[in-house]
Amino acid sequence: MDSEIVLRLDRKTAEDLYGTLYEVGEHIAAGAPMTPPTHDEVERLAQVLRDLAHSLGRRCNPYCDHV
Ligand SMILES: [Zn+2]
Repeated sequence: MDSEIVLRLDRKTAEDLYGTLYEVGEHIAAGAPMTPPTHDEVERLAQVLRDLAHSLGRRCNPYCDHV
């Protein structure tokens, strides 16, 4: 499939991503409070965002030269 994107995640990052998406969903659906992420969670999720941006052909920040 031409438009398929594959991201490989270690287990910790996958757990962080699952937890964040779940909490965002509950927050949007029912106003549930969101738990502030730890520093390590922020670091792992920021890397996911950078990787996803690059996979989509987007810059990860205004100065990005990775694409
Ligand atoms: Zn970049």
